[in-house]
Amino acid sequence: LLLPVGLLSAAIALVLVVKLSRRRLSPLAELRLALRRKEFLMHYQPIVNLTNGRLHGVEALIRWQRPDGDTVRPDLFIPLAEEHGVISDITAVVFKMVAADLRDVLRAHPQLHVSINLSAQDITDPNALKTLRAQLEAAGIKPAQVWLEVTERGCVAVGVAADSTLAQARAAGYQVAIDDFGTGYCGLQYLQKLPLDTIKIDRSFVQTVATDSVTSVVLPHIIQMSHSLQLSIVAEGVETQAQADYLQQSGVQYAQGWLFSKALPLHELKQYVERDAAMK
Ligand code: C2E
Ligand code: MG
Ligand code: MG
Ligand code: MG
Repeated sequence: LLLPVGLLSAAIALVLVVKLSRRRLSPLAELRLALRRKEFLMHYQPIVNLTNGRLHGVEALIRWQRPDGDTVRPDLFIPLAEEHGVISDITAVVFKMVAADLRDVLRAHPQLHVSINLSAQDITDPNALKTLRAQLEAAGIKPAQVWLEVTERGCVAVGVAADSTLAQARAAGYQVAIDDFGTGYCGLQYLQKLPLDTIKIDRSFVQTVATDSVTSVVLPHIIQMSHSLQLSIVAEGVETQAQADYLQQSGVQYAQGWLFSKALPLHELKQYVERDAAMK
């Protein structure tokens, strides 16, 4: 009678040890393992033209799909990767996945683009643009269909290095967008100095657009400035029709957000693109 109980407790102990030893992997070690095991994939969020709802492009957003089925959001692991110098490996994987995923879509729909997020370190990494070019060439994607998103915060962090890298990227045919604009790191003066094509107005800003008096005063300035610098504007995180209407009436051309679509897995994005292409 003692034996089965002994076996049972041994089995329980084993399960515990396995779980604990897995837990003993630091988050960083888990991230490195995930890279080796190719546990990352991309989702794509439609960016639409506010005047007619038609597809303008897509933003590539990374997802970590763990073997246990959990999906880890980039907000949780991108900062870790940035902190520990793993981000260049992740960026290289992103370039590769985006090129493979979207080669057919971009070829069939030359008016569309894909917007890829870069970290501050990528901006100062001379290999990043080389890696990107190699992946795009292999897939037959033209730089004109690729936007690079850098955050306002990232640009400030790397200072003048941002200017020269972004200028290089534009010279190579990419479009450059400043992400999360309006979160208060540097303001409008900074816009004039950077070589840019587009500004993306941050979600926190967009979501207070019809309710917050500060936002209502500042937004027209951002829009006016963007127009005079001939930058296009994308509003992020648009969730309600009221926000969309307000933005459109204020002169914002493009938007993304749950009102239009969440970030989609590739097969759903392809369906979205086909539905959009069928609209006359
Ligand atoms: P981001 O570049 O500003 O991307 C927009 C984020 O807002 C995405 O979160 C998107 O899913 C979310 N979003 C879109 N519409 C709505 C909405 O209507 N309401 C709300 N509440 N959220 C909305 P996600 O995918 O979790 O990405 C978070 C951040 O992680 C991104 O912010 C970007 O900074 C970073 N990130 C994502 N993918 C990559 C990547 O491939 N490389 C790098 N370096 N960073 C990435
Ligand atoms: Mg972005
Ligand atoms: Mg953003
Ligand atoms: Mg963000």
